[in-house]
Amino acid sequence: MALSIKRPNGTEDVTPKNIHKWYTVEKTARETAETYGFKEIRIPTFENTELFQRSVGETTDVVQKEMYSVIAKETKFTLRPEGTAGTIRAMLQNGMLNEAMPQRAFYILSCFRHERPQAGRLREFHQFGLEMAGSEKPCADAEIISLAKDIIDRLGLKNIELKINSIGCPSCRAEYHKALKAYFSDKKDELCDTCKSRLEKNPMRILDCKSPICQDIAKDAPLIIDYLCDECSEHFEKLKEYLKVMNIEYTIDPKIVRGLDYYTKTVFEFVTTDIGAQGTVCGGGRYDGLIEQLGGQHTPALGFAMGLERLILTMESQGCEFIQPETCDIYIAPMDEKAVPKAISLAKALRDEGFWAEIDVVGRGLKAQMKYSDKIGAAYTMVLGDNELESGCAKLKNMKTGEQIEIALDDKFTDNFSNIAVSDMYGNVLKDMQ
Ligand code: ATP
Ligand code: MG
Repeated sequence: MALSIKRPNGTEDVTPKNIHKWYTVEKTARETAETYGFKEIRIPTFENTELFQRSVGETTDVVQKEMYSVIAKETKFTLRPEGTAGTIRAMLQNGMLNEAMPQRAFYILSCFRHERPQAGRLREFHQFGLEMAGSEKPCADAEIISLAKDIIDRLGLKNIELKINSIGCPSCRAEYHKALKAYFSDKKDELCDTCKSRLEKNPMRILDCKSPICQDIAKDAPLIIDYLCDECSEHFEKLKEYLKVMNIEYTIDPKIVRGLDYYTKTVFEFVTTDIGAQGTVCGGGRYDGLIEQLGGQHTPALGFAMGLERLILTMESQGCEFIQPETCDIYIAPMDEKAVPKAISLAKALRDEGFWAEIDVVGRGLKAQMKYSDKIGAAYTMVLGDNELESGCAKLKNMKTGEQIEIALDDKFTDNFSNIAVSDMYGNVLKDMQ
């Protein structure tokens, strides 16, 4: 029968066969963030639509074209397109910003954007991200860039380029907007419809329009970096100095403006060319005005988010190592129904000690059971038949060496199994060392 209901376009399943890849990235990111003092935050999958309109920005692609919104019982909700808005909302709502600064939080979550699905661009994707609130100092910017780089390095990724830029503060941006408006106004008719309306409201958004025509027109547009005020320039200089101290290589890309409105001063991206056109694996920056915009006290803040699918794609394409999945410790094969109770109770005792123990649950014959045990890579197998039940003793077979050891099926069984497993493991280590 053909499957009549398939997953929606732009979504993916992660089957158990591949889950170790996700564990690798999540564990590495989590543990690295913890070394910088970050703790996990969990936030809802959907929020009031207004939260994203007010933070991500009305003129951004995300808000104008990509949000999944529903009206439920007369309230407008949106599936989160990113994690920053919800995290900052949660920091405010839970009084975290009244506590000792800085406040740091990381998250691992799914995001939803109605985009054209392609390699590395999905409608449901996953991010590891983090936010730090309460520091305006450039060393905080350097710290989070260093954290992102540590994660990338620990995953074994190569050839990931760090690009940085400063997009200034509202005061330097006012001048810049004037220059942009002047530049685009005589090319206005050629811009896409969305950008035509952006010209008045927020001309900087034209710079990250995905339309090739708009991109071409924007090629020679004035650069924000030439319009920075003294304070923003100095902040950027300090950041570069700190990156140098930490031996973090970067290039300045004056064209990075980032797709969300809330950014100020530092913006950055980590980019690879190894997975095709969607090569930005991490994007982030400073957003000093956001918390105030959402109703809090003025609190400078910054953060980044990494696309987990893109990280995994890059790891696969570069042949990086993933943390290997665990394998079965012992497969117990009952020869017939009579041996099942003993097999069940031994397996349960082993599991209580943390071993991965399996028994036959589908009624295979002995030969097929042995084949299955081989297939799942069980370290040991043990057959239980009439003889074993009568004598209270069975043969434990080490599947790697073929060696068989008698083992009593009494209340010392798990201890004995554990001793054998440990001594075999050390034996192997010693052999490897010789
Ligand atoms: P892009 O320019 O590729 O659209 P973006 O600027 O919209 O990225 P951000 O909002 O900064 O992306 O999200 C942070 C990270 O999340 C990106 O760097 C990317 O790795 C990942 N990401 C964003 N959108 C998608 C998507 N549709 N599918 C998969 N990953 C995504
Ligand atoms: Mg995007």
